[in-house]
Amino acid sequence: MAFALLDRLEAHKKLSFDQWCEVLSDCDGPSFEEAKIRASAIAQKHFGRGIYIRGIVEFTNFCRNECHYCGLQKSRRDLVRYRLSQEEILSCCEAGYRLGLRTFVLQGGEDPGIDDAWLIALIGQLQSRFPDACITLSLGERSEQSYAALFAAGARRYLLRHETASHSLYRKLHGPTQSYFERLSCLYRLKALGYQTGAGMLIGPPGQSLEHLAEDFCFIQAFQPEMLGCGPFIPHAQTIYAHEPAGSVKRTLYVLSLCRLLLPDLLLPATTALATEDAHGYEEGIAHGCNVIMPNLTPRVSKMHYQLYNGVDCETSFEEALSRLKLRVTDLGYHLVFGRGDHPRFAQHKGRNA
Ligand code: SAM
Repeated sequence: MAFALLDRLEAHKKLSFDQWCEVLSDCDGPSFEEAKIRASAIAQKHFGRGIYIRGIVEFTNFCRNECHYCGLQKSRRDLVRYRLSQEEILSCCEAGYRLGLRTFVLQGGEDPGIDDAWLIALIGQLQSRFPDACITLSLGERSEQSYAALFAAGARRYLLRHETASHSLYRKLHGPTQSYFERLSCLYRLKALGYQTGAGMLIGPPGQSLEHLAEDFCFIQAFQPEMLGCGPFIPHAQTIYAHEPAGSVKRTLYVLSLCRLLLPDLLLPATTALATEDAHGYEEGIAHGCNVIMPNLTPRVSKMHYQLYNGVDCETSFEEALSRLKLRVTDLGYHLVFGRGDHPRFAQHKGRNA
């Protein structure tokens, strides 16, 4: 049968490793368009024509890690490092809140200069100023005690891409102090603590094969994340991958639609990396089943020093980005949704930053 594996994926929400390899290998065949049509219909069934908007604040670019693909890697001596103050972060969120945002994503490198006490104080301030907003963290790997303390303080979502579920590829892409097993353990800790948890992988970093992506899908179907960040790898001029080709936009879109088929109520962003590689990346992402967009609240001066890859837009203000997004999404027949936008399994929790 023509789309037997897509049928199976939709019906059972599970494929074997070999089946994932087979379905992934049809990216240039008829499955691409079919998966897109099905993914878009599933997203609309679960979320209507609404696209959740989150505001991201990149509040530190200090990082102790050596991810070979990333522009923030520790060994970069030329990079101006910054860390926003709590007041600066609060005023970024204030600007987003005034425009209607009710989810703030605080993201940064793994900054050894930021401890739990500082984060707990920040979360407390955010909660008292914006009691109906959801605080999402994306700060990398931390101890179980730290994740628990931040949850107790009021953080409710955590984004930690697994980057790749292949142990051998993980080793090639990361420095010797980083552990594949620790990264995965962090994800399981977050989930066990009650966070809405986001995993995710790069599409097309150097050395990635279809088998590696099949491993990602096997991990995702076992882990069942509430959120998933998937964007193309884009080279950064100051890294060892400066001259590597970027990940394929088409493959990224195909992966996104397969993610939607696997996890129908997933919070699935059309990522900035996708929009950087393709001028119509947001529209294409939505057409392939995405239902989240995360525009940037970071002040321009800091954004210039938070370039994970080449081509990051540092010029467009948040207000401008938001009004352009509104037009683009409306042109597609969709609309922006400014609520907290919890995962449906968590949406029944009401109350203070529940
Ligand atoms: N430090 C936190 C962490 O480890 O999860 C969050 C910040 S990290 C810079 C955010 C994400 O950027 C990573 O998970 C990675 O997938 C993505 N990223 C880094 N370099 C990239 C590149 N060259 N191309 C595309 N995405 C990249």
